[in-house]
Amino acid sequence: MVMLGLVQRCARRFVSYHSKPLSTQLSKMKVNLLPALEDNYMYLLVDEETNEAAIVDPVEPDKVLKAVEREGVKLTTILTTHHHWDHAGGNKELISKFGASNLKVYGGDDRIDGITTKAVEGLEFNVGSLEIRCLFTPCHTTGHICYFVKNPNTPAVFTGDTLFVSGCGKFFEGTAEQMYSSLVKKLSILPPATQVYCGHEYTVSSLKFAQFVQPNNQHVLEKLNWSIKQRENNQPTIPSTIAEEMLYNPFMRVENEELQKRCKTSTPVETMKFLRNEKDHFKANV
Ligand SMILES: [Zn+2]
Repeated sequence: MVMLGLVQRCARRFVSYHSKPLSTQLSKMKVNLLPALEDNYMYLLVDEETNEAAIVDPVEPDKVLKAVEREGVKLTTILTTHHHWDHAGGNKELISKFGASNLKVYGGDDRIDGITTKAVEGLEFNVGSLEIRCLFTPCHTTGHICYFVKNPNTPAVFTGDTLFVSGCGKFFEGTAEQMYSSLVKKLSILPPATQVYCGHEYTVSSLKFAQFVQPNNQHVLEKLNWSIKQRENNQPTIPSTIAEEMLYNPFMRVENEELQKRCKTSTPVETMKFLRNEKDHFKANV
C-alpha cells in the first residue's frame, strides 16, 4: 500500500519529487504537467502554432525555467488560480527571472503578486492562438479563478483548488452555496470532454471518500483501482474529464437524489455543505 496524502490541505512542506512529469498532446495545444512541492501540480500550457506558453501556478520557478528551456517555448503568461502560497508563491521570482515587461500575469485576487490584468468572470484573452476564458469560482478563496481553454477538439480547464479529481477544495473563504455555483453551475456545464487539470494530486484519498459516500457506484471503484496503480508507479492521475467527474465526484453530483437521500438532505446546497463537513473529518485509511 503506498503512502499517499492522508489529509487534504494546501502543501506546506517541500519535497523534491512526487510524480514523473508527463506531457499530454491536445491537437494544437500541449500541456506539460510539472509536479511541484509535495503534491502540487504546475502546468506549462503550450500553443504549438506560435510556440507561446503560459504557466499555471508556478510555485517552483526553477522547474518552470527548465521546462521552458527543454520545450523551447516562449513564456508570455502566468495564470494564477488563487493566492495561497503553494500556488502563487513563485510569481515574484519568476517575474524577476523573465522580466516584468515580458510577462502578463493573471489572477483574481489582490493578494497575488505581480498581477498585470485582474481576472474576472468572463474575461477572455489569448496565449498565442489559444483562447482562454476566466471562470470566477470563489469559495476555497474569495478570488479563485479557473482558466478554461476553448480548444474546439480538446478543451481543457485548470481548476486550482476548486475542483479536484473526485473532490473539491476546502471552503476556507466561502460557502456551500458558492461551491455549488462554482462546481455545478459553471464547471459541470463545460463540454463533457473538457480535460480537468487540478492543483493537487489528492485523487486516491478523494476517491476513498467518494467510495464511502457512494458505496454502490462502480465508476468510483474503477477510478480508485486505476488511480492506486498509477500512484504505485509514481504516475499522475491527471487529467480527468468533466464527463468523468460527473460519474464519480460526489461534490459534482449533489443534485443526485440517491446521494441527497444518503446525506439526509433535500437540496444540492445542503448536500454540498454536509459532504464537505464529512470529508473534513474523514480519515481515508481507517
Ligand atoms: Zn489553496
